[in-house]
Amino acid sequence: MPDLPTIHLPAELIPADGRFGSGPSKVRTESLLELGVTGSSYMGTSHRKERVRSVVAAIREGLRAFFSLPDGYEVVLGVGGATAFWDAAAFGLIERRSQHLVFGEFSAKFAATVDGAPHLEKPERIEAAPGTRPDPVPNPDVDVYALTHNETSTGVTAPIARPRGVEGIVVVDATSGAGAIAVDPSQFDAYYFSPQKAFGSEGGLWVALCSPFGISRIERVAATGRWIPRFLDLRTALDNSRKDQTYNTPGLATLYLLRKQIDMMLDQGGLDWAVKRSLRSSSILYDWAEHSEYASPFVARPEDRSPSVVTVDLVDDVPADIVEGVLRDNGILDTFGYRKLGRNQLRVACFPNIDPTDIEKLTRAVDFVVERL
Ligand SMILES: *Cc1c(COP(=O)(O)O)cnc(C)c1O
Repeated sequence: MPDLPTIHLPAELIPADGRFGSGPSKVRTESLLELGVTGSSYMGTSHRKERVRSVVAAIREGLRAFFSLPDGYEVVLGVGGATAFWDAAAFGLIERRSQHLVFGEFSAKFAATVDGAPHLEKPERIEAAPGTRPDPVPNPDVDVYALTHNETSTGVTAPIARPRGVEGIVVVDATSGAGAIAVDPSQFDAYYFSPQKAFGSEGGLWVALCSPFGISRIERVAATGRWIPRFLDLRTALDNSRKDQTYNTPGLATLYLLRKQIDMMLDQGGLDWAVKRSLRSSSILYDWAEHSEYASPFVARPEDRSPSVVTVDLVDDVPADIVEGVLRDNGILDTFGYRKLGRNQLRVACFPNIDPTDIEKLTRAVDFVVERL
């Protein structure tokens, strides 16, 4: 990369918090301080005892309220993040064949995971170019529909709706959508995410909201006697979650920060509040880009534009890596586009922890930098 020009942003253009990464994302400093204050009473204590299990119980109860889960739905958790859940799903949710909507790096990775599984048939892949999205196609030959609520690599959001007239379960990668984009639980059977995105916690954990239909699928697949590695066994995860614990040792800080984030969002007004806040931040960015001489929203159709991860293309003579570097020198972090997408692009998280006022400042900061390049 060429040398970065030295550009100092005026203080009034510097956001109060400069973290705009799409994951790991901004963790509330208040929560970090509260974690510190627990001192010797929480960190470093057994995850099989009441102190930690009460945090897991609060997470499970809190998410049930936050997502207004109907009776019979369960909150299941395990170690390893969304990436581990893909492997777990390949072993424990897909009976024979899955359909994958592939429209970016993350949805492609899940499809690739399944593609190599010797106990499954080749998945059906329905692809769309980056910046757009495909629709599921009802197919009696598949038993899992693998959807993605928000393609973090491109900033495209997709509606979560059951394909009509078919039996398959709906399994949703909601990692960067959960907690920022509205969803109707009647439309999914497993809605899974890692907590380092909209839930402003740490990585290394997966959470899955499972419908009764999803739970019966877990039980049915386990009953076939298929070999399933213990770490990836969803039955084991379900049994442990029901006891407010995980199969193996979780990150206690991750759990604590997740619980604090859920509590905060519930206090503010729950999912409705979170959705509105992300929408406010993202609207500021999309409006700015649409009126800019040198920037434009990457996603063409307004209804596909993510409210939680915003992607903005820059014209060729405004190099995004220079803009990103100058912002970074000024304490404004992680506005780079997804590397493998390979575009001249900025990408900005608009998760509920991000203050819309800071997004407003960011747009003015970018203008300030570009005027001086
Ligand atoms: C971040 C992300 C993942 C991967 O999450 P890990 O916690 O790193 O495993 C998967 N899917 C989507 C949509 C993501 O945004």
